[in-house]
Amino acid sequence: MDYQKILQEIQEEVQELLHKGKVADYIPALAEVSPAQFAMSITLFDGTQFSIGSADTLFSIQSISKVYSFTMALQFYSKELYKRINIEPSGNPFNSLVQLEYENGKPRNPFINAGAINVTDSLISYYGNDNITYEQVLEFIRSISQDSSIDSNLVVSNSEMEHGHRNLALANLMKSFNNLDNDVYEVVQTYFKHCSVEMSTKMLSRSMLFLANSGVDPVSGVRHISTAQAKRINAVMLTCGHYDASGDFAFNVGLPGKSGVGGGIVAVVPNLMGISVWSPGLNEQGNSLVGTKALELFTTKTGISIF
Ligand code: GLN
Repeated sequence: MDYQKILQEIQEEVQELLHKGKVADYIPALAEVSPAQFAMSITLFDGTQFSIGSADTLFSIQSISKVYSFTMALQFYSKELYKRINIEPSGNPFNSLVQLEYENGKPRNPFINAGAINVTDSLISYYGNDNITYEQVLEFIRSISQDSSIDSNLVVSNSEMEHGHRNLALANLMKSFNNLDNDVYEVVQTYFKHCSVEMSTKMLSRSMLFLANSGVDPVSGVRHISTAQAKRINAVMLTCGHYDASGDFAFNVGLPGKSGVGGGIVAVVPNLMGISVWSPGLNEQGNSLVGTKALELFTTKTGISIF
């Protein structure tokens, strides 16, 4: 298949949509990003990459980091993790508080904010220290991306901390239900630092290979998680990866995926490739508007999907 040609077609077809989305301005440091940017990359199992647009530009991965922290928590806790977090779609916005109250402080899934904050808390308990947790997650991201240059942007995480009232409220609510072990501020700050990691679509598509290959990085041969765990992470990406637009994403794209408010999306094609797309303008549910469309065009043009 001529992937490069398909990517070129996609880039042309999404041009008219580039000004339709709205950048995430609730994090002031992200409000300054120009919305009319686009990049898309795929990485095959032998490491070959195809890209279009600004595929080397670094951007804030935001909630895509939730896939990495969830993977690590599963490595350490396995099924025990589900005592504190569910794995059902929420049907609610990513930062919603109401459902968490009704459900006694147990988050619906690891990809809404409450769930990811809870996952971070579990990692801090495992490592016994918030700074070590932050560094270990960063190390894990570097290792699955095979790129030691990856780092976070603390201007973004500090900006988010200053305006992080809602995430602090989620953490406090979980704490009030005895479903958060560590200090609320430390947990939320560590979560923000992971969200502020910066990567390009080339790096992100590379980082998904182990999930496309039953837990084993096909290039390095390293097993990161069990086959069963890889299946579960992909399932949660499919059902919960786009919050209250997860059904829409499954319907239109047909792949496990995870979005972030920085405008990035990762997607997994089992047994074939990792994909990433970036365009900072978001739709109403906080997912990249052009990114979602580009992935829909990709699966439609190639006929590749899990269905
Ligand atoms: N750091 C962001 C937040 O907590 C992540 C949200 C997202 O990417 N959907 O609001």
